[in-house]
Amino acid sequence: MARLLVIAPGPTANGDLHLGHLAGPFLAADVCARYARAAGRDVLFGTGIHSTQNYIVTTARRLGVEPEDLREKSAQAVETSLAAMGIDPDGFVRFDERYVKTVVTFFDRLHSAGKLRLRAVKFPYSPSTGEYLTDAYVRGGCPVCLTDGCAGLCEGCGHWIASGELVGPRSTLDPDDPVELREEKVLVLPVEEYRAGLEEYFARHAPTLRPRLARMIEEMLARPLPDYPVTLPISWGIPAPFPEVDGQVFYSDTETITWSVHASALAAQQRGEVLESDDQLWFGDTEVVYFFGSDAGFAFAVAGVAMLLALGQYVLPEQFVTNEFYELENDKFSTSRGHLVTGQELLDEGVPRDLVRFYLAATSPEFQRTNFTRAAMAEVTSSRLVAPWNRIARRVNALPRAPLPVSEGSRVAARLLAERFAGAYDVRRFSITAAAFTLTEQLARLDAFVVTQDNAGDFCHEVDVFLRCAAPILTDLASALPDTAIPELFDAREFTPRRLPELPG
Ligand SMILES: [Zn+2]
Repeated sequence: MARLLVIAPGPTANGDLHLGHLAGPFLAADVCARYARAAGRDVLFGTGIHSTQNYIVTTARRLGVEPEDLREKSAQAVETSLAAMGIDPDGFVRFDERYVKTVVTFFDRLHSAGKLRLRAVKFPYSPSTGEYLTDAYVRGGCPVCLTDGCAGLCEGCGHWIASGELVGPRSTLDPDDPVELREEKVLVLPVEEYRAGLEEYFARHAPTLRPRLARMIEEMLARPLPDYPVTLPISWGIPAPFPEVDGQVFYSDTETITWSVHASALAAQQRGEVLESDDQLWFGDTEVVYFFGSDAGFAFAVAGVAMLLALGQYVLPEQFVTNEFYELENDKFSTSRGHLVTGQELLDEGVPRDLVRFYLAATSPEFQRTNFTRAAMAEVTSSRLVAPWNRIARRVNALPRAPLPVSEGSRVAARLLAERFAGAYDVRRFSITAAAFTLTEQLARLDAFVVTQDNAGDFCHEVDVFLRCAAPILTDLASALPDTAIPELFDAREFTPRRLPELPG
């Protein structure tokens, strides 16, 4: 079976992760990787931070710090936050010389293959500062959905909006600074040239795309696909070493594929592999699965796949598992307004990590916005997880530690139980909320199990299989197991109950 490459693209390095990030892509990617590994697959999981977007510059200005320092501190904070929640990537991308080299090598390959074109593109320009205003530097109306926002990926509609297309552009640094449009020659990837390949690719993948991404892709393919700038006439970013765009940098949002290639190489090396090149894994028998917010769809799914088609030979992503926004008390998470909760805060308040992981899984915004409140978390985790599990654990723990017979009926039940979980965890239809739902349904069934002298072995056997299947979510509870492998065959004839821990309430 192909090796599984799970990639959760890094957040912008301008702050820590909050619960919205965790409930969106990061916990899901971790659970996906853990399950696939438990089921016997060869898995690599890569994440990290994205350190070249000019949002880092605008946030640093607001905070009165240096962008390089903000980037470094954010990388630390993100790595610590992931570890606190038990999210355990094999590779973590940060900004260093090797990353820069990977980016330059990748774009040099596209450039040498003649896939990039020099085109005159209009950008908002501030005559008073002499700066071009791209992405985070400029706000205006989205020409597709009217939402007011920065250029780049629109949070309202998901389309990629060129800085020069914003309606009524104004500088984010100084909204009163007059802005004009000025033309500059930059290198672009003409995405329209890959239309046929993209249409064929998305026709194949449509059945497993979540609705919002599917709709965005239909909308994008219904319009001319853009000339996507690969270089920009700004100073923040990785310098592009091409003479025709002297002084320009790579556009950070076009680093999606090279970032992923780098993440996978770091992951493989972390696991002790020696690679001939960073992109080696992208040529072999590899299944690439992405986890990201659906508003990043254009950058990864459309422009990213177009870039891979332009290069040829690379594997194309197999799945895009997207998510929507997670809200806090029915309002958007906002770092600048201080309206946020972090995973660490909940842990500091004494909420056990398994309960946080379970509740984020149960309420993950997979298809639509969902909402977090502490009160709902306390209610749901107590009634659907802690109370039934602890009743079950006490009944198992009251049994003697001696082999008990397991019936054919219990072997069948164990297989069916494992199949329900597999359906939720499988990458093709991955759904962390479905996994959390299966978890509570099976827990309720085991809680209602009437244990007699004759079927005590069946009960303990099924509780053991349940815990193995729940392990990708309940990582701390599952550490009571000698291992978390999920058996391929359910052929136990007898089972010796082992002591099970209770969940702290
Ligand atoms: Zn829009």
